[in-house]
Amino acid sequence: MSRIVVLGAGVSGHTAAAFLRRWLSKRDEVIVVSPQPTYNWIPSNIWVGVGLMGKEQVTFPLAPVYRKANIDFKQARAVALFPEGKGVDPQPLVEIEYTAPDRSGGHELVKYDYLINATGPKLNFDATPGLGPGKNSVSVCTADHAVEAAQLLAEKVERMRRGERQRFVIGVGHGGATCEGAAFEYVVNLEFELRARKVRDKADILFLTNEYEVGDFGVNGVHINRGGYVTPGRIFAESLFAERGIRWITKAHVRGVEPGLAHIETLDKGLGEVEFDMAMLLPPFTGVGIRAYGRDGTDRTSDLFAPNGFMKVDADYAKKPYREWRAKDWPRFYQSPAHKNLFAAGIAFAPPHPISEPHTNAEGLMISPAPPRTGMPSAMIGKAVARNIADMVSGSPGPAHAASMAEMGAACVASAGANPFTGTAASLTVFPIVPDFERYPEYGRDTDATFGEIGLAGHWIKILLHHLFLHKARMRPGWQWIPE
Ligand SMILES: Cc1cc2nc3c(=O)[nH]c(=O)nc-3n(C[C@H](O)[C@H](O)[C@H](O)COP(=O)(O)OP(=O)(O)OC[C@H]3O[C@@H](n4cnc5c(N)ncnc54)[C@H](O)[C@@H]3O)c2cc1C
Repeated sequence: MSRIVVLGAGVSGHTAAAFLRRWLSKRDEVIVVSPQPTYNWIPSNIWVGVGLMGKEQVTFPLAPVYRKANIDFKQARAVALFPEGKGVDPQPLVEIEYTAPDRSGGHELVKYDYLINATGPKLNFDATPGLGPGKNSVSVCTADHAVEAAQLLAEKVERMRRGERQRFVIGVGHGGATCEGAAFEYVVNLEFELRARKVRDKADILFLTNEYEVGDFGVNGVHINRGGYVTPGRIFAESLFAERGIRWITKAHVRGVEPGLAHIETLDKGLGEVEFDMAMLLPPFTGVGIRAYGRDGTDRTSDLFAPNGFMKVDADYAKKPYREWRAKDWPRFYQSPAHKNLFAAGIAFAPPHPISEPHTNAEGLMISPAPPRTGMPSAMIGKAVARNIADMVSGSPGPAHAASMAEMGAACVASAGANPFTGTAASLTVFPIVPDFERYPEYGRDTDATFGEIGLAGHWIKILLHHLFLHKARMRPGWQWIPE
């Protein structure tokens, strides 16, 4: 009998736990540790953030789903790993702190044979003074943040109906942020909603980003095959913004946010200010801050985790210049080099380096996107890690199922509006996510498998995916056949 502990019930951890339960025998135990009582289909938070969906449409309680699936759920956060055991006991352990109301604050040491760290990001609003909910800007990173953003938007719409002009600043709130694709999707949705609510003429919309040029998306841009012509993603994104009257500022770091005012610094124009009535700025990410200890209590955190708090896995972390980055630097199995029974999946693993070319200001601050680990790769990695652990439990000497981001594609559908007939979407697919210039010398990507379209078809796919992925996450009949 083996016990597998999964930390995190997000896209990656939840996928891993569901497949582990399917592939392991009944005698093996699957335990999920996660601090929130609900699952959140985060991509649809965008629709919550413009008031088109309620929180209940993008979340559901995890406990009944796990009970039915025979997965033990502990509503708690992981605080420390003891991968060699503790004191005289060599059994690996994870220390958790309960967040469930009836046990809040209580600690427990949970033994494991295999552990998947799928804890996603810490939303690091504190990196920028004044940034974030409860301060001077809103976010759509969680369902609650998105509800707050929708309330603020509704208030702004009322003002515009009374004839006032309103300024919207949408983007990322730090030079080292990631998730530019989500900010892009929110700005397209916001613009669409303002038109639908007949107040677009009263709104100034600005997209504020750390990308060197729009359409970079943290993946070093894309080259899109459209009817035989290869178009850079910048042209695609700029035309989309120009058609919709959205202005943009690129290469930007946000130094601080005051009520109605963002202090920015751009690589080409230096210091500046941007006034706003509503700002939706996504934070940078770090790891969630789990510590690691040796059996004798020595702090081993820096052995297991990179300085940004993400877990080191089978990647090449040697520091090298941008021109020397290789697709094969990226991990294939997400296994800790220090402990063969320890894996990190989704945003929780430490990328070896950014994907976009890095740029820094005079003080050495990076003003360019950190590498995204979007939903599709996060789920595929979670599934591959689950497959490898199930095989190892059955006697395989090591992982054999690879899920490198340099060998897989991803789709990004920025869909505006949630109505099947009036919406529209900008849909992009890239292959591979991490460019491989040895395999595809011209653009680093297979241009036959990298597409971009604007229209209704992508919009229908996005609505369909919302329902399919929630069906899958609820582990309803046939869930295993729905692709990641
Ligand atoms: C607004 C927005 C829109 C997006 N839209 C898209 C999209 O359209 N398409 C796409 O592909 N991707 C999209 N993404 C990205 C996608 O949501 C992420 O890639 C994905 O959620 C990452 O999965 P994950 O499991 O690594 O992290 P998460 O989904 O964030 O899950 C992390 C889990 O770990 C838990 N946790 C945190 N701390 C601890 C701890 N100490 N111990 C245990 N558990 C812990 C969390 O509560 C959570 O359950 C979007 C992201 C945002 C913010």
